[in-house]
Parts: sequence; C-alpha cells; structure tokens
Amino acid sequence: MGRYTRKLFSRRKIYDLERTNEIFVKAMRENAIFHFEHNADYKRILDEASFNPRDIQSMEDLFQLPFIPTLYYKHHEMFSMSLKRMPIKATSSGTSGMRSKIGMDIKSLWYGFKMVVRTFKYHKLWSLRPVTYIIFGYEPHKSNQAGIAKTANGFTFVAPSRKKVFAIKYTKDGYVVDLERVKQALIEADKKHRPVRTIGFPAYTYFLLKEMKSEGIRLKLHKKSKITIGGGWKQFYAEKVDKESFYALVKEVLGVKDTNCVEFFGAVEHPILYTDCRHHHFHIPVYSRVVIRDIDTLEPLPHGQMGLINLMTPMVKATPLLSVMTDDLGILHNEGCKCGEKSPWLEIIGRVGIKDITTCAAGAEKLLDL
Ligand SMILES: [Zn+2]
Repeated sequence: MGRYTRKLFSRRKIYDLERTNEIFVKAMRENAIFHFEHNADYKRILDEASFNPRDIQSMEDLFQLPFIPTLYYKHHEMFSMSLKRMPIKATSSGTSGMRSKIGMDIKSLWYGFKMVVRTFKYHKLWSLRPVTYIIFGYEPHKSNQAGIAKTANGFTFVAPSRKKVFAIKYTKDGYVVDLERVKQALIEADKKHRPVRTIGFPAYTYFLLKEMKSEGIRLKLHKKSKITIGGGWKQFYAEKVDKESFYALVKEVLGVKDTNCVEFFGAVEHPILYTDCRHHHFHIPVYSRVVIRDIDTLEPLPHGQMGLINLMTPMVKATPLLSVMTDDLGILHNEGCKCGEKSPWLEIIGRVGIKDITTCAAGAEKLLDL
C-alpha cells in the first residue's frame, strides 16, 4: 500500500506533469481505497455517490471522485488511522471553533519533506550563508497551533540562521505586533551587509514597507536576500494592491529585485507546496492536480476559464485530503510561461463572497488594528 504515492514523491522533475499522469492516477486510486477501507465517514460519502474507488482508471475518473469542501473539515474530524500514529495534528487558520483538524502521518510528513527539499532546490532557495530571518508571523508558542505558525518557523531551515526576528511576539498579554523591531533588524542587516530572508503574510510586509517608505528609509539589502511571502493575498483585493506594485515597493524600500521575491501557496487541507516561478506563476507540481469547476454545475472547466479551485493529492493517509474543494476562485492557465515550464499554472482570483468565513489574513489585520 502506498507504492505509487512513494513513486510520485520520488520524482526528480517536479513540474513534469505529462509523464506522471499515469502514476498520479494510480497513487490516487490506492489512496482512495485506503481511506474507503479505513474511514467510515469517507466510505459513506463515496457510497452515497455510488463511487467505487477500485474503478479509478483515468484522470476523467478522478474528476468524478467526490470532493470534500474545506468547510467540511472544520466541522468533522476525519481520521483514517489512530491518533497515536499522527505526530502532527495541524489546524487551519480561522475564527475559534472554525478550524480544520487535519492529521499527518509519518509517511506523509516524509513525502512532504522530500517535496520541500526538491522544490526549494528547483527554486534555488537553499543557501549555506547565514541569514537574518524576518518572520512576519507568530512567534512559536504552545498556545498557537495554527498551521501557518508551524510553516513559517519551518522555513527557517533553508539557510543557516544568524538571527530570527518575529513580527508577532508572544507576551504575557498574548500576541502583539512589533513592526518596529522588524524595521530595526532590517536596517541593521543592511548596515552590516548581511543577507535577509523574510517570511510570512504579504500584508505585514506590505504595511511595514509602506511605513518605511513614508519615513524615507531606503535600503540596499545584500543581493542574496530573499523576500518570501505566503498566507494569501486575499486582503489585498480590498486594498487594491496588485503584485506588481508590491514588488515595486520591495525594490524601492529594500533594494531587492522582484526575481528575489518568492511566493508560496498551500493550505492545511491541501499540504502541497506551490512556489511561484520567476514570472510569478504557480505551476502545478507532480504531487497534485488542480481542477477548475463551474460554480453552478461543478463540472470541470477547460483551461483559461474561471471557477472553483478543486485540489487533488494522494499525499496523506491520516485524513482523506485526496480531493478538496476550496471556496476560492481561480483559473488554470495552459498557454505556456516564459520561465520554460510546460506545467499549467494556477491563478488564484480569491474567495467567493461568503461573509462568515474569516481568513487568517483578516485575523492578522485585526491584530494590526490593536
Ligand atoms: Zn513560469
């Protein structure tokens, strides 16, 4: 069990979709059968749709595999193995009582580790030179189980750390945003000519840079510096800040080129690492497939059309995450990219207008208002 998933996560060319279609289908089939046999909830969902996972033979069959909305994981604990076998139980961001509880088994974590190693290698993110980490996120603390905190701190192994500065400090009164400390750390790194890596929500990076700009601060950070962002741009739609103006601001204030700005995308319910290429496109890696579905009929749409983003991966055994329906709108582009990768890329348009969904970014904005 898990033979094809292992094969899929051992591929060296991480964007070679065409040559992994067959193995992807087989890996999804074995993952679907596993959950079907070990998870009564999941079996019921498939039975109600009269879907037998043993019948999966092609990509078209995968389109028919019942997907599970991300909201479902917030209301149901869906575990396909005993809790003892899960070293990590991640929760997604959200208002309290609205968090997804996702289990991760050791094998999935190992696959995830291999995926991260290969992805960072492809995107040239590994470095032996010690860097100053600026983390636009929560300082780790046992009271914060959000997946994003784990991810942000997890990124600090890609290069040796000289120093770690967190934008959101844990104090006895709870979490407090301290952008002043971050600003001073950036100025110090610039003076000492040390490479910087920033990690975290684009909102914080953006607010800080705007403030620095208004104060007339112009830095020229070491050329090995990288601005990495993740956690979503959703709040930017309201702010009407597009990526181009964000990158222009990074260049102006920090002196870092946009080719050294890297964006990540992922979700607790779909723990695949999407990294943008130097033209800032999220190409689909071999580990997953993306289906864009019509908002009304939920039928798969052709490339270039906007619809709901349905994410698939056979990575996880602890929780059935094999086909997850997000409430985000997106477009899958297949017209090629100047970076040379043939794999289609996903443009994330944003969230469908559901009022009661609070994103982690919105929570971050709340903190900033304090
Ligand atoms: Zn590209």
